[in-house]
Amino acid sequence: MQIAVLEALRCPAPHAPGPLIAALHRRHDGDVREATLGCPACGAEFAVRDGWAWMGDAVAPTAGERPDDDALTRAGALLGLLAGGGVVALAPAWAEYAHPLVALTDVAAVVVGPPAGFSTGDGVSAIAGTRALPCAAGTFRGVALDAWVAADDAALASWISGCAARGRVVAPADVPVPPGVRELARDTRHWVGEREAALATPPVALQRAAAARAGGAR
Ligand SMILES: [Zn+2]
Repeated sequence: MQIAVLEALRCPAPHAPGPLIAALHRRHDGDVREATLGCPACGAEFAVRDGWAWMGDAVAPTAGERPDDDALTRAGALLGLLAGGGVVALAPAWAEYAHPLVALTDVAAVVVGPPAGFSTGDGVSAIAGTRALPCAAGTFRGVALDAWVAADDAALASWISGCAARGRVVAPADVPVPPGVRELARDTRHWVGEREAALATPPVALQRAAAARAGGAR
């Protein structure tokens, strides 16, 4: 877990997002291996174990295949990674792209829902136990979605929110283009879009909290 990613983590509970307080227990070459993260707003605690940040207990589907060179180059192009810098967030189906993409470009990568035994370090971080992307808004230069994260509206909204304005959003062709994303191109396998500068809708979690309050007042 890279420090920059650790600092971008946010509590997944439906309250105003704010930084978590990190107690670092073990680091290796700038990579946080063991830590405890506390939420000052609600008291929730999260652990970083062996480089993975555990943000809940959601079980991710099996990761996709390791990409061949063509698939890798294609993913780099879809995500617009020709110019270096920044961090991309990858859904479970893209997990095996993380290390080769980081080696091919100058970006860092975060895998959400990493497969068993997935190794972190060398610019690759992992966030486990969550379908949402529990990070500050605008953290990532690009996000690669899969059917699993797109199947949950609140999770999907968090991925779009986590993407920087005008950052790239890539998804399988059968995933609908979500609100807040402008489609740039598509083929039979994927579409690529750009996150709009201003999100059209607030995060779904906030809508639900507001709806719950409205319901309770009746
Ligand atoms: Zn919290």
